[in-house]
Amino acid sequence: MDNTSKIPSYLSRERLGPWETYLVQIDRVEPYLEKSLLPWVETLTRPKRTLIVDVPIRLDSGEIAHFEGYRVQHNLSRGPGKGGIRYHPDVTLSEVMALSAWMTIKNAVVNVPYGGAKGGIRVNPKNLTLAELERLTRRYASEINIMIGPEKDIPAPDINTNEQIMAWFMDTYSMNQGKTTTGVVTGKPLSLGGSLGRPDATGRGVFITTVEAARHLGIPIAGAKVAVQGFGNVGEAAARLFAEAGAKVVAVQDETGTVFNAAGLDVRRLKRHRHETGSLGGMAEAESIDNQDFWACEVDILIAAALENQITEDNAGRIRARIVTEGANGPTTPAADLILQARNILVIPDVLANAGGVTVSYFEWVQDISAFFWSEDEINQRLDKIMRDAFNAVWASAESKGILLRTAAFVLGCERVLLARKLRGLYP
Ligand code: NAD
Repeated sequence: MDNTSKIPSYLSRERLGPWETYLVQIDRVEPYLEKSLLPWVETLTRPKRTLIVDVPIRLDSGEIAHFEGYRVQHNLSRGPGKGGIRYHPDVTLSEVMALSAWMTIKNAVVNVPYGGAKGGIRVNPKNLTLAELERLTRRYASEINIMIGPEKDIPAPDINTNEQIMAWFMDTYSMNQGKTTTGVVTGKPLSLGGSLGRPDATGRGVFITTVEAARHLGIPIAGAKVAVQGFGNVGEAAARLFAEAGAKVVAVQDETGTVFNAAGLDVRRLKRHRHETGSLGGMAEAESIDNQDFWACEVDILIAAALENQITEDNAGRIRARIVTEGANGPTTPAADLILQARNILVIPDVLANAGGVTVSYFEWVQDISAFFWSEDEINQRLDKIMRDAFNAVWASAESKGILLRTAAFVLGCERVLLARKLRGLYP
């Protein structure tokens, strides 16, 4: 396994933003990269293009409010940019840069023909009415219009953005173009060129990669205990798929709290309860526990599917799972990574584990531009094959080089990007 037993002081959580976390990851990977690609590595540490936009909207009250938005294209060597749009009060340029870079690596790991991009607006969408949210989305789409397009950069949903927002986004772009252009975003409603299987795709990819890892470690999924942080698009789908496969989802945490049942929670009922009451707590057979105790739950599998920087030096030592799967982007700090490694806990890294979403987004884009739509079975089968092939390529490389799955996934992804970069050469 990679050298590293001591946590260097510069890795302290307070000093490391998401972009710095990504740079540390690239540093760790560099010694394992094919030598002829090394002259190009610096390209990975510099986003190709970043755009900061002012997004002014008229509130329902008649007042004008300004929000800051971003779109970053980290690397376009392998194809058009691809990556979601996040609406969250903590969105920063550093975060969007890191998320766009992870998209570059992720798209290369599953070998979809895209570069990496990401966008976001610093806003708490829960404070906006539906009409304000629509105006925000349309103005943001207009502001970043110069960068996007089905052959340039294709956004998708991320935290707090959904298929309705993608529909407004697609409509705004189409109005500017003077023609309906469904391929400009993915994660759209089915009736507007969306794809079957997209809503569950990221959670399904999390499930598929975890099942593969469990198989290698000899852990049967039926009866395995699972804890899931985040009960949104990714976490809920993953929890549901584990429960359907006979695992016991014993703990679920979201922004409203943590619930626990040693015999396994009823995931579908919990989803309904969360929807109807607005919080996880209060359902029969689901004991509310302290948020910090979530990390110490005795489980086989822990799914981190909420936000970045959730597994830190403060809680990594308490985790008892044998597998940690990163459904979220960047949920484990580099310092926590070292602690999990020392404790022999297998981490399935984000750039592999949550790549199911972008894989089915790729299917959606292919269907849109060919105007020919596939069945859900066909989509799930293709997804299953891509995720399992990617997992097993990363696993084999980790085994043969004696490195972590994260390092192996980054080596695979970075080498594909750098080879494309090298072959294209510099212009002019
Ligand atoms: P979402 O908005 O649907 O769900 C986010 C979940 O996290 C919610 O349940 C929310 O309550 C919970 N959460 C927020 N803050 C929390 C906190 N402090 N503690 C515990 N829980 C908290 O978002 P999503 O689409 O499920 O995305 C989740 C993560 O997965 C993000 O990191 C996102 O970038 C990543 N991801 C999403 C996709 C996708 O297709 N949606 C694809 C790849 C990666």
